[in-house]
Amino acid sequence: MPSSLNILLTSIEYLKGVGPAKGDLLKKEVGIYTFNDLLNYYPYRYIDKTHLYKIGEIKPDMPSIQLKGRFTKLIEQGGGRKKRLVGTFKDDTGRIEVVWFKGVSWIKKSIKSSEEYILFGKPTLYKNQFNITHPDIEKAEDQEEQFANHLFPLYHTTEKMKAKYIDSKALSKLVKVLLLELKEVSFEENLTVQIIDRYKLMTRKAAVFNIHFPKNENQQKRASFRLKFEELFFIQLNLLSAKSYRKRKYKGHPFKTVGPLFQDYFEHKLDFDLTNAQKRVIKEIRKDMLLGHQMNRLLQGDVGSGKTIVAIMSILIAIDNGFQTCLMAPTEILAAQHFKSISMDLFSLGLKVEILTGSIKGSKRDEILQRSAAGDIDLLIGTHALLEEKVKFKKLGFVVIDEQHRFGVVQRSKLIKKNNIPPHVLVMTATPIPRTLALTVYGDLDTSVIDEMPPGRKSIKTFHRTNANRLRVFGFIKEQIELGFQAYIVYPLIEESSKLDYADLMDGYESVCRAFQKEGYKISVAHGRMKSEDKEFEMQRFFKGETQIMVATNVIEVGVNVPNANIMLIESAERFGLAQLHQLRGRVGRGAAQSYCVLMTKEGLSKDSFMRMKTMTETNDGFKIAEVDLKLRGPGDITGTQQSGMLPMKIANLATDGRILQEARRSVVDLLEEDPSISKEKHLGIQKYLKKLMTEQVDWARIS
Ligand code: ADP
Ligand code: MG
Repeated sequence: MPSSLNILLTSIEYLKGVGPAKGDLLKKEVGIYTFNDLLNYYPYRYIDKTHLYKIGEIKPDMPSIQLKGRFTKLIEQGGGRKKRLVGTFKDDTGRIEVVWFKGVSWIKKSIKSSEEYILFGKPTLYKNQFNITHPDIEKAEDQEEQFANHLFPLYHTTEKMKAKYIDSKALSKLVKVLLLELKEVSFEENLTVQIIDRYKLMTRKAAVFNIHFPKNENQQKRASFRLKFEELFFIQLNLLSAKSYRKRKYKGHPFKTVGPLFQDYFEHKLDFDLTNAQKRVIKEIRKDMLLGHQMNRLLQGDVGSGKTIVAIMSILIAIDNGFQTCLMAPTEILAAQHFKSISMDLFSLGLKVEILTGSIKGSKRDEILQRSAAGDIDLLIGTHALLEEKVKFKKLGFVVIDEQHRFGVVQRSKLIKKNNIPPHVLVMTATPIPRTLALTVYGDLDTSVIDEMPPGRKSIKTFHRTNANRLRVFGFIKEQIELGFQAYIVYPLIEESSKLDYADLMDGYESVCRAFQKEGYKISVAHGRMKSEDKEFEMQRFFKGETQIMVATNVIEVGVNVPNANIMLIESAERFGLAQLHQLRGRVGRGAAQSYCVLMTKEGLSKDSFMRMKTMTETNDGFKIAEVDLKLRGPGDITGTQQSGMLPMKIANLATDGRILQEARRSVVDLLEEDPSISKEKHLGIQKYLKKLMTEQVDWARIS
């Protein structure tokens, strides 16, 4: 048998039935460049053509079915726009009416009474008679032996493709041509015999054939399992082999001492007891930084679970060992807030802490840059500004990235490169991410999880209200302000540049003013178009309690901490994603008092929006919310996946294939334990395929 390799690399226009024009379209519209790309263009659904029904067997409420028979009559009825074609289709058990509203004359011309046909369509009951409108229709003799009686694949196509007659059916024909061409070709195996035996996997070739034209549902499932397993296996292999390589290659700084700063802070500065989860996580980090390799660790924890303190204590370990540190946050507000809350304690320990953001300029900036390079700053807090070439350190030993989902791998590696021996890295998430996603997007990192909230937190009460209830909601806010609390009112600002969103915000601000100012309450406003000094000024007023209400856009989404605020009112809540809603809600519930979150929406929500509101009112658990989010939106849309640089997925779905992912990852771990450099004879197939995928990934750029 010839090998599949060369044939599969053939450019798609050379497939019988394609040609240059259609080839171009396939490349541009769906990224099918080669035979292999077409082979990997999987159906999204199947229709059951495994069974031929008799007309006499038709019952109400059947799905689409296949019938075989002849047309005995074809009559045009009506005229003009009401023109239709009514046929009588007959087999040896009965007759059924078939109706067309479009393409009438063409269909009438092409159907022959001498010919036997196979119809595929859904029977509906009309005036006590079954009929089928616009069925798929094929000459019985044309139904190729090869894939007759199989599940029939449906493929996604675009409007432009359909306009050139490449619809799902046409695509399935092309796939059929390709599969027939590959029938005598051998496919190289890319997994080991052990793995194939252990999971009873289909061979590659069988899987590829059965994913397009499965004989039955069971075969389809097995094919899909094999391909998903393979896909997830190689994603994990890519991540974990990189990680294992890094661990072997880079000698990190071993932080041998847990010195006086850490002890002093722990004994004198902490005004609460750490939760057990925080203690455990600090231990994990300490141990990891001691071992002499470079730490790359993800810290997951729900909003308000106390990740910052873990970061501070890790920073202190680094400084105790004679190194500089930095902490990068995604927004100026958050960087400023970290600076304010962290620096006070650290100043009193005699440490040098500075902040560097885009708005720090001139001589102040020069001074910071110079001191950092001279090793005269212990902790540099900042935004993206930290990534700039000019920012240098004398001896950078530890890096914290807060709210990692706002940054990508590129930024992470920029920070790491700021020292010859790479510094230890701790990345923190804003909200929990589902485990499957964490294993994939952050699969090359070790993970620590804070799964426990500080004691005494009251869970936030969440309500879903529509605009009709606005007066009562405002009344409730007034009551709470009378009791001495403060409130956030947040408007969606999905796109920074959208004029409409700003108009909404400003309208909202005015109506809030009308409703609350006459009571003598003061109102702050903060949004992305304000200068950062003005924003900071407003935030400060609210923080100090000089204003009672903060009207804002999602700029306050991350990390802002005003414990006296106990109400979060979210306007047009249906426009926010679940992760954002959960983040926003996390701005309250930071003090001892009962807190509230009100989700204000229009009436008549879509099913998904309703599900989001329902989830929010039912649970405060960020891990649960993240799972629902993944199910509703699918992994492609979840923040972080786009920048993660991971291999694109063609068939596996992180929302539903968690179990397969676990198994695939376990196989990878076993493999790397046995053969860290993937060089043993029996692993050559795996090694070769991984290399091929990596080059294809580069090629992927040509599509987007
Ligand atoms: P996040 O994980 O969302 O970044 P933070 O680190 O901002 O949360 O912590 C939220 C609040 O909880 C802060 O005010 C912090 O001081 C407080 N906090 C953290 N750990 C504890 C603890 N063990 N006991 C009591 N309060 C804590
Ligand atoms: Mg935080």
